[in-house]
Amino acid sequence: MADLDTDVRYIKGIGEQRAKALGKLGIHTLRDLITYFPRRYEDRTAIRSISSLSPDEPACVEAMVASPPTLSHVRKGMDLVKVRAVDASGVLDVTFFNQTWLKNSLRQGETYLFYGKADGTSLRRQMVSPVVEPVGRRELTGRIVPIYALTAGISRLVLSRSVRQGLDACADILPDALPDSVRQAHHLCRVEYAYENIHFPESPEALELARRRLAFEELFFFTIGLRRLRRRRDTVHVPPCQAVDMETFYRALPFSLTDAQRRCVEEAVADMRSGVPMNRLCQGDVGSGKTMVAAACIYFCVKNGRQAALMVPTEILARQHHTGLAPLLEGLGVRCALLTGSTPAKEKRSIVAQLADGALDLVIGTHALISEEVRYADLGLVVTDEQHRFGVVQRASLSAKGACPHVLVMSATPIPRTLALILYGDLEVSVIDQLPPGRQPVQTYAVPGSYHARVYAFLRKLVAQGRQAFIVCPQVSESDELPDERKAVTAYARVLQTEVFPDLRVTFVHGKMKPQEKDAVMSAFAGGQADILVSTTVIEVGVDVPNAAVMVVENAERFGLSQLHQLRGRVGRGAHQSYCILISDNRSEETRARLKVMTQTTDGFRIAEEDLRLRGPGDFFGARQHGLPGLRVADLGCDTKLLREAQEAADALLEQDPDLHAWPATAERVQMLFTQSADMMN
Ligand code: ADP
Ligand code: MG
Repeated sequence: MADLDTDVRYIKGIGEQRAKALGKLGIHTLRDLITYFPRRYEDRTAIRSISSLSPDEPACVEAMVASPPTLSHVRKGMDLVKVRAVDASGVLDVTFFNQTWLKNSLRQGETYLFYGKADGTSLRRQMVSPVVEPVGRRELTGRIVPIYALTAGISRLVLSRSVRQGLDACADILPDALPDSVRQAHHLCRVEYAYENIHFPESPEALELARRRLAFEELFFFTIGLRRLRRRRDTVHVPPCQAVDMETFYRALPFSLTDAQRRCVEEAVADMRSGVPMNRLCQGDVGSGKTMVAAACIYFCVKNGRQAALMVPTEILARQHHTGLAPLLEGLGVRCALLTGSTPAKEKRSIVAQLADGALDLVIGTHALISEEVRYADLGLVVTDEQHRFGVVQRASLSAKGACPHVLVMSATPIPRTLALILYGDLEVSVIDQLPPGRQPVQTYAVPGSYHARVYAFLRKLVAQGRQAFIVCPQVSESDELPDERKAVTAYARVLQTEVFPDLRVTFVHGKMKPQEKDAVMSAFAGGQADILVSTTVIEVGVDVPNAAVMVVENAERFGLSQLHQLRGRVGRGAHQSYCILISDNRSEETRARLKVMTQTTDGFRIAEEDLRLRGPGDFFGARQHGLPGLRVADLGCDTKLLREAQEAADALLEQDPDLHAWPATAERVQMLFTQSADMMN
């Protein structure tokens, strides 16, 4: 009998070849296979007659092939198979591109199901490249069809057949880690039914039942994991920190902290003095001054004789924090270093050694800081900035690193409460609800592409006043074909430099550049050596250039609201009136609604709520971004009610049986969820 860890190659009907292809999708074991859930579904249940097919709405049609298919070679790389099909209502001419095998597999006189859109007159309709299969097979037509993420070398059909084989192979051995009492109390279907119908739904209702069950269990196991993490930490005792004269630190700053910043520092300091490890989220809109709160906490920790790590999601940000904080902190006796993926090996070795023997007090860097090889003499505090790029799992693996450091999480991304509940469900929260004095709200305009000339003139005027400007274009990516050359960063920068602003200094930065190059460009820009910086969203997170007063976003329709808010947050950080210009030719209702929100408010929380409402929850956080283990089915925006239910169920179970003695399968599942994802992230 198979178990879920069985290698897929041993599953009946799969074999070496397919196993290899599946491996490319990250599917190695039977468990991987059956938990490779469809990304979406297409309802292909509707069957129409040929005459009632429409050009807008795809549908299935059951039709007989009336004449032998013909194959013609149009030109190199383009072969056509044409076939005429009929039903009682009319004639359908079907064309396939580059699917030459259909010439022999479609037989005259046999009936097939075709799925696609048709145009043409009601007497003679045409379909191009429909999905086709023999009537009665019901794999790709005549049902709700699962749509999986695919990769080269594996077709939709092969994947869904493999899943079929997988489900058949484990029909009798599917363990149910959800206690049956919980399942029944919450009206959830059985595990076999859930797996069957999440892949091959019999009906929309069956799919919903399956989805609900699987989403519930994810949230349930996840909650249990979180609660246990938290409990483990709450029972840990650490030596309380001693009071530190913070005035020395405050006096070294070029400005005085806002009341909100001070309050956050005080809350964090109180945590660190309590004898229990701090777990605090410091949330404040872009520009609210989170960095100084972090610096104050770091100072406090180091003056207690312990080390601190400041972890950020990008190298640019790491370097910027290092450049900004090191002089201040070094001046106060804090020994600082920068450690990122691109730190040269030799220097890295030296830093690692100094962290291990306590010769360094603070290290700033990317997630390299929590990698295996980095050990600390006495890590007292970990600050993570722009937290949404990290996640619960990293927090878990951090506390596994030695003696439970204090953890302070800084986040600008205001997220809807429900999401916060699970993302930060294990944290105390401080809010910086005040901006530093003298800030003027960024004036925001949404304009069509025909305004480019005016926008350029405006940039020119501001540069003449000594300001700098950002221009953001969408990410460079192979799959995106954007005909307009202005939109690719390098090309656009070249055009701007040579044709639009020959007398100004234009530079550019994008994600494909080497970290050192990026760094050089960014520091030059921050140092005022360029007037205009063209970039992709690599500058989205946290970059601070107070003299920059304009943010221009090209193709603004391609960005989510929260992202636009982040981008806009790059300006308006100094004393100058700043502007954000969102350029888009997209006139769709959705884009217009989104850009309008931007022009109407600068309130990050409102923007986040609107984002969720307009985009639909599925898009709000990419699976990788939220960093939550095992949430593949649950929808963080939609499943609020389900989350509450799952949390109540988890709490009730833990109350009865905190160590899950009676529920070894549940305990094992939770354990696996967290350790597996921790491995994945490292
Ligand atoms: P964020 O919360 O977005 O991380 P930063 O910490 O980058 O914000 O701060 C934004 C800008 O405001 C920086 O240039 C910083 O030096 C400045 N700043 C922070 N706190 C204050 C303050 N209390 N008074 C004046 N300027 C401040
Ligand atoms: Mg910041």
